[in-house]
Formats: sequence, C-alpha cells, structure tokens
Amino acid sequence: MRYRGHIAMISEHANPLSLLGSEDAGGQNVYVYELSLGLARLGYRVDVFTRRDDPRPPETVRLGPGVRVVHVPAGPPEFIRKDDLWEHMPAFMEGCHAYMAGQRRGYSLIHSNFWMSGWVACELKLRLGLPVVHIFHALGAIKRLEQGRADTSPRDRLRVERRILREADRILAQCPAEVEDLERYYGGDLSNVCVVPSGVNIRRFRVVSQSRARARLGLGPEEQVIGYIGRMVPRKGVDTLIRAFARLVAERPAAPLRLMIVGGECRNPEEDTSAELARLRGLAESLGVASRTWFVGKRQPDELAGYYGAADIMVSVPWYEPFGLTPLEAQACGRAFVGSAVGGITFTVVDGVTGLLVPPRDDAALAEKLALLLDNADLRQRLGRAARRRVQREFTWAKVAEHTAGVYEELLAGLIPVPAPAVRVVST
Ligand code: UDP
Repeated sequence: MRYRGHIAMISEHANPLSLLGSEDAGGQNVYVYELSLGLARLGYRVDVFTRRDDPRPPETVRLGPGVRVVHVPAGPPEFIRKDDLWEHMPAFMEGCHAYMAGQRRGYSLIHSNFWMSGWVACELKLRLGLPVVHIFHALGAIKRLEQGRADTSPRDRLRVERRILREADRILAQCPAEVEDLERYYGGDLSNVCVVPSGVNIRRFRVVSQSRARARLGLGPEEQVIGYIGRMVPRKGVDTLIRAFARLVAERPAAPLRLMIVGGECRNPEEDTSAELARLRGLAESLGVASRTWFVGKRQPDELAGYYGAADIMVSVPWYEPFGLTPLEAQACGRAFVGSAVGGITFTVVDGVTGLLVPPRDDAALAEKLALLLDNADLRQRLGRAARRRVQREFTWAKVAEHTAGVYEELLAGLIPVPAPAVRVVST
C-alpha cells in the first residue's frame, strides 16, 4: 500500500485505549480510535498523543496496524477532569513537541481534537510549520449557553476557539448544525470549515437476535424495554427519559415496562458515587419507577450490540448534541429510535423514516412517541430497517476516513494557501 503520510493525532484527554462511557470518556475516544485505524488502513501512519493519566502504561502503546498511542507526561499521572486540564497544556505541548522532534520519520500534518489540543496544534504549527486540521467535538459557546453557571470550562476557552478558527488550515464540522453554530456564535471568516460527519462501526453495531440478547441479560421476552446508552451528564437529558417513562407507567400500570440505562463511572453501578447517577436514581424513586429502572453501569463497546438489541426502543434526548454517536449506533443496530431534535441528531436521524424526533426537555412529547412505538411493532421494524440501511450507506468509519484523507491530501498537495470554497459538505 502506498505510504501517504505521518499524522500527529492530538487528543489531550480522550485516550482511545481508555474505557468508554465514564464522565470524560465518550464519543471523542471512539472518534480518535476508529478514525486513526481507518486512516492507517488507507496508508497513513498515525501517532495519537494523549496526556498520561496513569503511571503504568509504557510511553508508546500499539493501538493497531500503523497506529500508536503516545502517553505524554503533563501534570500528575492520574485522571483529571477535562475542565481542569488547561493549566497542564503548556507541558503537554512541550512533551508532544519533544517526542515529535525525536522521531526519525517526520510528521506531515497535525489533526487536533477539542479546543485544548487545538491550542497545542496552533503552537506546534508555529514551531514546526505543519498544516493543522482541527475538529472541535463540542463548542464552548454552546456549552455556556446551555449550562450557564454550571459550565465549568476555563474562561480562556472561547478566545482559544476563535484562535483555532483563524489559524487551523481546515476545521472539520461534524454536521451542518455545527456550521450554523460557528456562524452564529463565532462568525468571522469560516472559509476553512468543511463538513465531515462521523461514523459508526457497522460490524460491531449490528442487528442481533432480540430473544438471545434478552436471555443473556436476564430480561424476559414479554418485557417492553426502553433503553438509553451513554454518559451520565445532565445535558444528556436522561432525566427527561425517566420522566417520560414515569408517564407511560402511570398511563399503563399493568404493562411490563422496563427502563434500561447503560453508562456511568463504573461497571458496577453500586460502586458509582457520581452525583448525576444519584440524582437520576433519586428521580426514578420519587416518580415511583425505581423498581422498573435498571441502572446497568458502564459497558465496553463490544458488549453494546447486545444491549441495543435487547431494547424495543432506544432513546437519546440531550439538550444539545454536537454530533452524537449513540443515536447512530442505535440505528446501526436496527432499533426504533427516538431522539431530541438538536444538533447532529437532526442530521443522523431522518424524522419519521429512520427514527422519530421530539423537542428537547419535553417528557410529554417523548412519552407520546414512546406510546406510539410500543403499540406499533410494524412501525418499529420499519424505522429500524431503514435506519440500518442508511447508516450502512452514509455513516461508516471507512467513509469518514476517506473524507478526512481527502482533506489531508488537499493540504499535503501544497494547496494550503488556497482557501477552501465557502463551507462545503464533504459527504453525500
Ligand atoms: N459508551 C460505551 N459504554 C457505555 C456508554 C457509552 O462504550 O457504557 C460509548 C457509546 O457507545 C458511544 C460513546 O460512548 O460510542 C458516546 O458517544 P456520544 O457521541 O454518543 O456522546 P459523547 O459521550 O461524545 O457526548
């Protein structure tokens, strides 16, 4: 295979080797993992630079063919919440620089993830003159808007995000809604922005036998199972789901309704001391649905098809969602899916065709859609089948890697000074 270049993939907090599903580990870990392997399959060598948050692993660990993870010391080698990482970024940047400078095979391009790595990339660009491709994953302005005083992001975040928008050679937006957000809340020259949607691993997230999946999890064949998979943070709107579920239970007290919630800090939810899980448990109790609500705990990605497959309906109703991998995963597993009409979900779900959309924070509207789907097995099947087909067609990681490589090639061919055409969709 033709060697196409050496990529420095910078991802300060999201280590693709780490367990997923905890507070600070989610979609970005999956993105870095899948994209790096996909790029390597196309002929790139990829080094993923991430902050050392554990003293044990060696400096470099092989992730797969052509991909290494480099653990860069910066601050104490232990978990630090991502909102507390900013002060360690100068050390992280120096560590990345030292490692890169010491490699025999020079680097072709920097691909940075999230605003702090974007800052690192801008600094390294000044020193090394390499082109920078950046993906935000989430925008500080939206977070501030949605979370108000609860937003614990460092004050510098918006200023740094503006700098990245000016200095990166290409900005990858994950969906058209992200471009609109950039226009509305950041403005300026956005001619370096292009849309490259994320994807889903369609071999891992596949249609499985519901009866076998249920038997394995100890769920009965007669149960009506509504599921959520994802991180437990307030913006994911798991509370809206619990409220909607309580409405259903109130309307149908005799129905064998079950709510299955996967994710959290630990595999065993009894050991999980997070405030959000306590809040959600308290809510289920106060609404009288605790006995029907199963907090499963965090699970590994390769176990998840069994959980998606066991559910009749999967739900994800965040207040906002920059892209959202779990809605794609649910659809890849052929599940009937209900999502909130925000951000990337409006792009990955075709309302009424591959799933149903409801306004965010609206448990009454959600309960109504859940009732509609519970009463209509045909509709559930139709949505699930159409969803799987669309995901296979449009949202594979192979496709994401090809699109991303297209952006790299353009820059590596020496086209950097030529501005990209105004906001292009590199997609179907
Ligand atoms: N995830 C997981 N185990 C869990 C819960 C979630 O592996 O117990 C994964 C999930 O499958 C998805 C990712 O974490 O791939 C969450 O990504 P998403 O884009 O939905 O949300 P984010 O966490 O980035 O906000």
